[in-house]
Amino acid sequence: MSEESGVRSQEPGEARKIKVATVWLDGCSGCHMSFLDLDERLVEIAQHVEMVYTPLIDLKTYPDEVDLALVEGAVSSEEDLEKIHRIRRQTKILVSFGDCAVTANVPSMRNAFSVKDVYQRGYFETATLNPSVPDQIVPKLLPTVRPIHAYVPVDVFLQGCPPPADVIYGLLTDLLAGRTTDLTTQTRFGR
Ligand code: SF4
Repeated sequence: MSEESGVRSQEPGEARKIKVATVWLDGCSGCHMSFLDLDERLVEIAQHVEMVYTPLIDLKTYPDEVDLALVEGAVSSEEDLEKIHRIRRQTKILVSFGDCAVTANVPSMRNAFSVKDVYQRGYFETATLNPSVPDQIVPKLLPTVRPIHAYVPVDVFLQGCPPPADVIYGLLTDLLAGRTTDLTTQTRFGR
């Protein structure tokens, strides 16, 4: 990202709120919990942003024009893949949010097995009722779990499992101000 590539595109004095999304792909939601650990700082940030899509307040339609998206989790299913392409098309700054998004991390542990073996274990060997592979609602798995940047360009990589709330806060305030942040000195993988 260049020094000028923040999300603030208005002239000084203009009051348009920044449209922000958070997305949950294949992750444990721990990155979203860390986001919530911003606590009272969420109130401060809310004065400058409009949340337009997030599992936290159940907004389910991804808008056409989003300024900033924090995307948690790896790309594991056909639904994840469709989502991340749509998010990329409709988002100015895409943040790969946490180790699962950046490296595929924990979800990629299933890459050592075939999808058939994963289904066998999950839906037959451990089933106590009606063993079968669901053909509705549950999205189909992709052959392997991959990080977001394997499919679409990413603007910011925010490592951490989960990234600490202080680092999320610093990143958001910098992006909202049109600044960039050197995240490599603030967090690390697995932390
Ligand atoms: Fe959970 Fe860690 Fe993955 Fe975040 S990076 S979704 S906290 S496992």
